[in-house]
Amino acid sequence: MTDQGADLARLRGARDGVLERIDRACRRVGRSPAEVTLLAISKTVTAERLRVAVSAGLDLLGENRVQEALVKIPEVPGATWHLVGPLQSNKVRRAVGAFACIQTVDSVELARRIATVAADAGAHPPPVLLQVNVDADPAKAGFDPAQLERQVDELASIERLAVDGLMTVGRQVSTPEAARPTFVALHRLADALRARWPGLGAELSMGMTDDFEVAIEEGATIVRVGRALFGERPHAHEGGPSHVHG
Ligand SMILES: *Cc1c(COP(=O)(O)O)cnc(C)c1O
Repeated sequence: MTDQGADLARLRGARDGVLERIDRACRRVGRSPAEVTLLAISKTVTAERLRVAVSAGLDLLGENRVQEALVKIPEVPGATWHLVGPLQSNKVRRAVGAFACIQTVDSVELARRIATVAADAGAHPPPVLLQVNVDADPAKAGFDPAQLERQVDELASIERLAVDGLMTVGRQVSTPEAARPTFVALHRLADALRARWPGLGAELSMGMTDDFEVAIEEGATIVRVGRALFGERPHAHEGGPSHVHG
């Protein structure tokens, strides 16, 4: 087999393995696997390898750096992309044209800017998720939950912006079980917000390689999985969740 052929088989196997784990986690809590979307986090993975990944059925990809994504997107036909890392206001224009969903809206200002920039371009803004810093981790971006409850009306009033739900990046914890309170808190917050803002969508993006099954048990609708699909990332170019900041 060629290297690419071997990698295709490997990625297919990894995808099947993760889908099987998603399935089992859903069954444990009586959910349908159709409610859970696998977003393959492709940061640091080359465009060449991502073309193989698309052939393996991994065509929904998430990137945490706008710059890196903008280079890869035109080189990987057939993929759909979510932004899962920080978005600076000077990159909103390009992000709006490139991503099917921006999961990392962490201020009313950024939400407004996405809507305005899209309107100026005569386009519909992509749907967004509100990133919430559930654990009040100073190293993480996201709305403070209490602050978000106060800003619901402002967010709801932004014209044409579809807010599909909430997203969180959990603390680094030593066991998957230790991440559960974070997921429970995000789910509860979403329910509380929706009581006042029925237009808030139902997506809950939570859970990564180490804890996505627990996230599914607590209601995740999007799991963001990198290493379980693509293998360990090179350390120097990590850019992992602990490095995410506004
Ligand atoms: C890197 C990253 C992930 C995926 O992490 P893995 O541990 O590789 O599954 C998920 N979400 C965000 C925001 C990330 O930056």
